[in-house]
Amino acid sequence: MMTVRQRVTKIQQPGPAVQRLLERAEIEGVELVRFLYADHGGVIRGKATSRARLAERLGSGIGHTVAMLAMNMLDQLQQVEHLGPVGEVRLVPDPETFVPLPYSPGAAAMVADLRLPDGSPWAACPRTFLKEAVAELEQAGYTLVAAFEPEFTLGRRLPSPEGGPDRLVPLDDSLCYAGTGFDTAHDYTVRLVHALEAQGLRVEHCHPELGAGQQEVSIRHAPALRAADNHVLYRETVRGVALRMAMWASLAPKPIPDQAGNGAHLHLSLWQGSVNVFADEQVRGWFIGGLLAHLPALTALTCGSVNSFRRLAPRMWSSAYICHGPDNREAAVRVCSPLGEGGEINLELKPSDSSANPYLSLGAVIHAGLDGIRRRLDPGEAATVDPDTVPGRYPRLPASLPEALDALEADEVLMAALGPLRAQAYLAVKRSEAVAFAGQNAAYECGQHLRAF
Ligand code: GLU
Ligand code: MG
Repeated sequence: MMTVRQRVTKIQQPGPAVQRLLERAEIEGVELVRFLYADHGGVIRGKATSRARLAERLGSGIGHTVAMLAMNMLDQLQQVEHLGPVGEVRLVPDPETFVPLPYSPGAAAMVADLRLPDGSPWAACPRTFLKEAVAELEQAGYTLVAAFEPEFTLGRRLPSPEGGPDRLVPLDDSLCYAGTGFDTAHDYTVRLVHALEAQGLRVEHCHPELGAGQQEVSIRHAPALRAADNHVLYRETVRGVALRMAMWASLAPKPIPDQAGNGAHLHLSLWQGSVNVFADEQVRGWFIGGLLAHLPALTALTCGSVNSFRRLAPRMWSSAYICHGPDNREAAVRVCSPLGEGGEINLELKPSDSSANPYLSLGAVIHAGLDGIRRRLDPGEAATVDPDTVPGRYPRLPASLPEALDALEADEVLMAALGPLRAQAYLAVKRSEAVAFAGQNAAYECGQHLRAF
């Protein structure tokens, strides 16, 4: 039987799928293929190869400095042992993820792993972290299906009267779910949906949300790795389509300080073959017990930026308390009632946003839930009221990124799962962001997060 590591090590060999990919790249007029990854700052970065070199690069990958996994979201390089100027990894793309990019004609993208030059997994690769978590879950007999439910802010660029950088203003002040919000964003939304569908991301719903310029477009669930890959492609598409239309879009948790935050609630269901084990109240309870037990630490990964903690406040439907409840939109874990006949029960993790690295976030969620099942953790009584109306009954989520990072460092299960190199790098990168924003005003913090996410 293969170990988890051996399974993850297997590199896709060139075969008919790769051949089809090369043909497709030619037919669709692709000149450049971006190899994308998400870093410890939660930023999506990459390098592109020309189509002429694609066949070769699919095997060899593109060389990359190890130091980029010590870079924070302000492009400030941190000092992390083994992640300095000496050392090399490869961006090795997953052929399954190849998609021409409708918002950047002539370009395509693939999601990549960061591997050692000999092709073996690299201990700091976030996507490998999720693959290993998925494999460990499979060994325990389960698979996880997931979907991020992202919100974002859409806006226009206005020339600055002083001739400086453009002023970024939200698109509208339409009301939540209101028809005017559909209309103001209509041209953009149609292009976005078209671009997402063309990449194989199935759009479920869309609607104007509560805040100025805020929209939500949700994507159909998929097996865990695919769901995280989808979220990378989604984030790129939301922003790419806006740029193409001379607009701006941001998935930052709180791009505008006094407006509703952008969540990316994480929907989860756990399967044994074709059976949704969340239908079993006991197993579901253990999984929730695991999520809640690890939540202070988990938040450091699912809400990974300084700006994330501006969003997590009571009465914002983003969750502020560590509790669970059936269809409770103020609980950190909402147990969603099944939709229609034969509908499936799923869990919604509210403290989750698009400044997180989706691979670290989802991988950590798997470890927390699995720990709950293994130790049969009691989730506690379900909250059936707004937890903010019963002061003292439920613990609060961490109030800041440093608080969440301290909880992460103290969490033995998640620290062991991350491994020493990844954990050390993540903590260093995130603590540097906390230092960089300490003492800065809200406008600076929100502006920088708007730029990165
Ligand atoms: N915008 C809220 C958040 O930050 C979510 C609102 C909703 O329930 O859709 O999570
Ligand atoms: Mg929403």
